[in-house]
Amino acid sequence: MTQMAVASQELSTEQGTIAVGGEPYLLTPGPLTTALSTKAAMLRDWGSWDGDFKAVTAEIRSRLVEMCGGEDAYDCVLMQGSGTFSVEAALASFIPQDGKALILMNGAYGQRSAKILDYIGRAYVTLDKGDYLPPMPEEVDAILSADGDITHVVVVHCETSSGILNPLKGISDVTQKHGRKLIVDSMSAFGAVPVDVADVPFEALVSSANKCIEGVPGFGFVLARKSALEAARGNSHSLSLDVHDQWVYMNKTGQWRFTPPTHTVVAFREALHLHEKEGGVTGRLARYTRNRDVLVSGMRALGFETLLEDEWLSPIITTFFSPADPAFDFGRFYDEIKARGFVIYPGKLTEAESFRIGCIGALDHRVMEGVLKAVKESCEAIGVTNFGPPDGVK
Ligand SMILES: *Cc1c(COP(=O)(O)O)cnc(C)c1O
Repeated sequence: MTQMAVASQELSTEQGTIAVGGEPYLLTPGPLTTALSTKAAMLRDWGSWDGDFKAVTAEIRSRLVEMCGGEDAYDCVLMQGSGTFSVEAALASFIPQDGKALILMNGAYGQRSAKILDYIGRAYVTLDKGDYLPPMPEEVDAILSADGDITHVVVVHCETSSGILNPLKGISDVTQKHGRKLIVDSMSAFGAVPVDVADVPFEALVSSANKCIEGVPGFGFVLARKSALEAARGNSHSLSLDVHDQWVYMNKTGQWRFTPPTHTVVAFREALHLHEKEGGVTGRLARYTRNRDVLVSGMRALGFETLLEDEWLSPIITTFFSPADPAFDFGRFYDEIKARGFVIYPGKLTEAESFRIGCIGALDHRVMEGVLKAVKESCEAIGVTNFGPPDGVK
């Protein structure tokens, strides 16, 4: 068997040595490979009511507000659960029961927001661009011009199912122009793709612990205008997902309403310190972009093709078409790559066979070089000689 590239290898990056214990690198969009010190931060138990833990919660909230330039006009509410819990909490809390949303869809996460609105009974219309085309500001403009009942526009920042980086700024501008409110699912982008409220004055933005901030899973966060948090009172159908109630309680007591994922929270604080040390959003974006560039150019050199044109490629995750070669089988390919120390992600396209490779987490361009080597060897191991996609998939 080939030498396995495991995350236990000493990798001295700008962030220090990463990962321990013979685990594979996770080339996935979260949970992802985290730094050793982030994992080590979990080796202690905390009382959720204790002053030391309250200080951790307070520090996280203020650092996140700072990261979006929110200053006094915005606040941050932490919510237990995976990212979807926070998306559902935000949609239910900020869209009033008589409101109406425009959901911009180009993949699984936009579809999920629509499904949430079905569950919680909010009116909505959609702009559905299929698997990989961006919702364009002109299209949003036309829909908002024609429908004065729409109160909120819901957009996915990086649609992780294809890896497309949607044109957030343009969408924000037209939403503003029409005086409507913007809710952003920036789950897989926040912390690595700049979002400043001066440019994109969102009503609410949602992300979670285990994406670009490089924490471990267990909670999400909602950044929102204080005026929106005030106005959200009484909107939510759900006690545990009520952002307003969590916000009021956190401000009053410094605590979470219900048991917080304490270990995840302290790990996240450590992840935020590493984020700052790396140079904040700018530093993180630079590392992820380099990861993406090494990956994409190396894969193209092998003969693979990306789903997206360069203009829409995010520095978060990239979708590649599966080789047309009849010997290609994703399950076998996955196992071969994993045996070489890397976990990749299946594709999520409805039309063409594909797979995805993430660029986020505690990994750098040297890890991406290892991925390229593993991809080549794995294809050879399963007898794939032609890496190009079938004719006419695009
Ligand atoms: C990861 C992700 C989510 C949340 O997924 P969970 O599995 O609930 O954590 C939501 N939206 C986007 C765009 C994501 O990438």
